[in-house]
Amino acid sequence: MISPQLLTRIQAQGVRWGGAGLGLNRTGGAGPTDHKALDFGSQTSMVPVFEQPQVELQTEAKPVARSPFRAEPQSDAQVLIFEDDKPVARVQAPARPRFYDLTTADGVPYWKIATLHSKDVLATTVLQTCVRYRNRETSCQFCAIEESLAAGKTIAHKTPQQLAEVARAAVTLDGVQQMILTTGTPKGGDRGAAVLEASARAIKAAVDIPLQAQCEPPDDDSWFQRLKDAGVDALGMHLEAVSDRVRKQIMPGKASVPLSRYLAAYDAAVAVFGAGNVSTYILAGLGDTEEEILTFSLDLVARGVYPFVVPFVPVAGTPLENAPMADPAMLDRIFQTLGPALRARGIASDSLSAGCAKCGACSALKSYESQNQESENQEEQADAKAAVCV
Ligand code: SF4
Repeated sequence: MISPQLLTRIQAQGVRWGGAGLGLNRTGGAGPTDHKALDFGSQTSMVPVFEQPQVELQTEAKPVARSPFRAEPQSDAQVLIFEDDKPVARVQAPARPRFYDLTTADGVPYWKIATLHSKDVLATTVLQTCVRYRNRETSCQFCAIEESLAAGKTIAHKTPQQLAEVARAAVTLDGVQQMILTTGTPKGGDRGAAVLEASARAIKAAVDIPLQAQCEPPDDDSWFQRLKDAGVDALGMHLEAVSDRVRKQIMPGKASVPLSRYLAAYDAAVAVFGAGNVSTYILAGLGDTEEEILTFSLDLVARGVYPFVVPFVPVAGTPLENAPMADPAMLDRIFQTLGPALRARGIASDSLSAGCAKCGACSALKSYESQNQESENQEEQADAKAAVCV
């Protein structure tokens, strides 16, 4: 187990990989891109990992080239992470899941339909296209959703039947514990809720697995109950940036749905899914200030929404590929306040039904949730020991 602060720095700055390939640098898709699941003892975290030869080809302007962290394989399974020349962590890559070897009756490999995140989360992007993507006037500058489609690594639309088949196999063969359904935004006011509803219904009919759906706020709040009735246990509506200034600059299309609509949708969704089972991704490092992120996040916590604050990592091939990475000191200060606030509100990661906030692998936030409590326990134990000694 490593300290929350070290994990924050590793996730914010990435790791230069010095050995043989690990099947790295997946481009685009649901959740983390250019990330690798690594086991730090019992804790699995997603870490931006960049293969050394690729880094060497890049200019010094590439932020990852300046990361102080590098990894060196010790054996097939074990890897040592160094900060400068000092070893700081021993990690292991989770095994390739068995369901990746299967293919649907119509010839699609299961790994093109859904992938394993962390060590026990199945994730899929139901629609791999987005109405905002192809026009730089509307696309989110950090997003690479259609790149993996162009590279033949996935399919454009995963049908409910395909998702149900893969989910059943992933649970049976690999012990997957929850599933996340995200989607590019299609045309229409439901903003993807309709395909998520159909997908959830088919998956839940095939296998009993907690589900989180992720989409932009639909224009009609009745979608929340429809999603719940279809089997969705938790809902993510991801802001990414919290100030109008950054939203308009980095994600002009998504910013056409105003913050006021997100807040109203959060309140309506919490009434359906319950406190904590509504969440949002916030990418620290896009330009919002520390105060903006913390103030907004604490307001969300009070509403019963889990703000999953994650370090922004530039993705190759996007307009932000040369942008600076997140400041780990800023993240640490945000997490020091936000983690205990989540626990005090009763919406800590472990208590949630499903979703990225429950998985927690893309951010160190989860490990800060009990930090004050742990130090208080340690102080109490020290006091008790002192009392016994006296
Ligand atoms: S938090 Fe977990 S489920 Fe969410 S994107 Fe990261 S690895 Fe995937």
